[in-house]
Amino acid sequence: MSTLRPQLTLTEGSITLEIYGGYREIGGNCIVIKDRDKKIVFDNGIRFQVLRKYYRGSIRPLGINELRSIGAIPPLNVFENIDALYISHFHLDHLGLLGALPPGTRVYVPSISILETIEEWYRASSTWLAELPRKLHIEVIELIPHREDERGVTPIPVSHSAYPSYALVYNGYDKTIFYSGDFRVSGPLGPRINTTDNIDRVLGSGSADIALLEGTNIGGIETPIGSEEFRSILNKVLMGSGLAMISIDPLDFELLTAISELASLNGRTVVISSSRLVDILPQWLSSAFNANNLMLAVASDLEKPSLAPVDYVSLKHDVLKDPGGFLLVQEPIGFLEMLRRMRIWGEELPNGAIAILTTPEPLEAEAEVEEKTLAYWLYMLGVHVYRIRLSGHYYPHELKNILNTVKPKKLIPIHTRHPSLVLKLANSR
Ligand SMILES: [Zn+2]
Repeated sequence: MSTLRPQLTLTEGSITLEIYGGYREIGGNCIVIKDRDKKIVFDNGIRFQVLRKYYRGSIRPLGINELRSIGAIPPLNVFENIDALYISHFHLDHLGLLGALPPGTRVYVPSISILETIEEWYRASSTWLAELPRKLHIEVIELIPHREDERGVTPIPVSHSAYPSYALVYNGYDKTIFYSGDFRVSGPLGPRINTTDNIDRVLGSGSADIALLEGTNIGGIETPIGSEEFRSILNKVLMGSGLAMISIDPLDFELLTAISELASLNGRTVVISSSRLVDILPQWLSSAFNANNLMLAVASDLEKPSLAPVDYVSLKHDVLKDPGGFLLVQEPIGFLEMLRRMRIWGEELPNGAIAILTTPEPLEAEAEVEEKTLAYWLYMLGVHVYRIRLSGHYYPHELKNILNTVKPKKLIPIHTRHPSLVLKLANSR
């Protein structure tokens, strides 16, 4: 097995940092920190950039060994004699394939019960993604927010499009390292998850010697909309009286909460209309966002019992009779299937039906929906489309605010194609 060299190596004091993925590219994060007798790893990302180069259509991965040999997943030497692997959040370019880890690896994750749900989704996959769940003995431990563990790592809750997400601080023998994972300064729930306050609570008046900071939105030529704009558009759409549906990634609890609150305020009952969203419902309802006072139901047509105590509503008998009283919430994959089924029930979709597609971050996940085909179906069904991308990442104008909180002596931009642009922006303070 070939040993792939790190993309970047840096030695400072007793610490050696090695970056195996996520440098000059978006995603595939894998950072090794060696500090005297300690060796820890931050993230185990899949490098989608590499995957796209080697595989397309009928050319598919032969398995873990091949994925490793082309550098799509971290090399094995990353995990040799490690104390622990820390996963910042459950996007695949950070979580990676747990089935490819050496037996006995100790893995810290943001949530064990959410991980188990994700593993169920992928276990049955007919593709290489079936390697996502644990296979051999892997010890899994849940990160505890704001608490430093025995290796000196403190998880900081941050706002992002997968829940829960953490930045990680390593307090070493003589240096402190800040690792951002993916994050934004302000999300759709506003101050209910305050990234900079949470960072401040851990770093306080101290500072990081080295900050590994994501820069996804820097250097992009398309600006995704911010949380306030998203709420404003969504509110206007929901004020109408037509049938409304929205697609959402099942892990995006912040967005799910914000959408459900806006729908309830507009007198619409939120109808959970796809299987993965039903699976994740108990974890979402018990998350930290106090998603109470929601008008919430599960589509009985799914014939899938929910473990959460919610009402059932029939798409066929209730929603089509009073389209303005509901908001159907779907995951991107099941969206079209639901509409096609509603059409087969012999009823035209009501005029003025609206579909809101919340496009996932590019390069973070496998594109599971054929966009063009989806568009043809939606036209044919007479559905009007709003396509909105709410970013899970901070904006260039927010970098200054972040750096004032982290106060790094040395900045290493990761998860960006333009590290030099991030540095220039940082130095313009
Ligand atoms: Zn992410």
